[in-house]
Amino acid sequence: MHYQPQDNLLQNRIILVTGASDGIGRVAALTYARFGASVILLGRNEQKLRAVAGEIQSHGLLPAHWFTLDLATATPEECHGLANKLATLVPRLDGVLHNAGILGDVVPMDKQNPETWQAVMQVNVNATFFLTQALLPLLLKSESGSLVFTTSSVGRQGRAGWGAYAASKFATEGMMQVLAEEYKQHNLRVNCINPGGTRTAMRASAFPTEDPSKLKTPRDLMPLYLWLMGDDSRRKTGMSFDAQPNRKPGISE
Ligand code: NDP
Repeated sequence: MHYQPQDNLLQNRIILVTGASDGIGRVAALTYARFGASVILLGRNEQKLRAVAGEIQSHGLLPAHWFTLDLATATPEECHGLANKLATLVPRLDGVLHNAGILGDVVPMDKQNPETWQAVMQVNVNATFFLTQALLPLLLKSESGSLVFTTSSVGRQGRAGWGAYAASKFATEGMMQVLAEEYKQHNLRVNCINPGGTRTAMRASAFPTEDPSKLKTPRDLMPLYLWLMGDDSRRKTGMSFDAQPNRKPGISE
């Protein structure tokens, strides 16, 4: 995407990022802060979150808040508890990037471990829904809220071996479409980003023999991540965007 955002694109915007401790989420959080946002980092690993918050601080940007929430065990009550805490800290949320996710096992359906299947659904779908439900009141306080889910090419077209992960991303696309319809008359847009193959730990575990140097880095994807959080995308809702539109799914470039 050829998009040249203004340096102050996200000034006065408060943006929460899940899975902000590593991979794409970490870079998205740092990038949003660099473009003026006040960011709230969510993850399960305190040490890693502290490091990201420290990095933001070391660049002299607005200080980041961080909270641990393990999506593998998160309940609706916990998510509401977090939202209540946030409401004492910030007046609203202008953006939420649901980025945290797990892969599960890349094996055929008849070999999918039911426990792993459930874990993937819990993190990628259920906890993402619980958190969305809890955060909606804060998002609806924004003059132009942006709710962004993270999908995958296997969430649009099934592919052998991608079982639970693919099913979870189809559910993610569905959740996005339903919410986009429901909030059409409000100041809230709801969209998905498909990052496309990106140089992260998740990608390496899915494609262990691939040469990572041939993949785009999280930083390369940031124009779309910025555009969806800023005012330039204000009228877009119910859409699923590709951060690497010309890339064939499932292969390295
Ligand atoms: P990474 O594995 O690099 O990072 C995943 C992030 O999610 C980490 O911050 C991780 O935390 C967090 N996370 C995982 N499990 C939990 C949990 N139980 N509770 C809270 N946080 C958790 O993945 P990517 O950056 O590659 O992926 C980001 C998103 O992009 C995912 O939704 C993925 O499905 C999607 N995607 C990625 C592609 C790629 O090629 N990389 C392609 C298509 C889609 P921790 O640091 O503690 O592990």
